[in-house]
Amino acid sequence: MYGTGHYKITKPPVCPHCGKKMTKTEPPPYNIGDGLGWGLKYFWVCFNDECSFFVNGWENMRENYGKTASYRCVCLPDNGEIGAICVLSYDGLKGGIIEEPGEED
Ligand SMILES: [Zn+2]
Repeated sequence: MYGTGHYKITKPPVCPHCGKKMTKTEPPPYNIGDGLGWGLKYFWVCFNDECSFFVNGWENMRENYGKTASYRCVCLPDNGEIGAICVLSYDGLKGGIIEEPGEED
């Protein structure tokens, strides 16, 4: 049930917002916001601090929710869906990065 064999996106996809390669990352145990688990072995995250999605997120969260937070663009490997995940700092989620030696450019 937790396998990755059916995943469609197994190579780093490109962020639709900034065009940078996304990073394989282990999801946090829960999804901030709805409390549901991701049910994924990994997902792809854009860690580009210049990404317009991330940059605009700070402003957006402050204006709409009065929070110091932003979100990063994520791509779900099982269906290729693009989504967003909330982060509270620049380092948010980085603890989950899965190093993949030999996959550097
Ligand atoms: Zn991006």
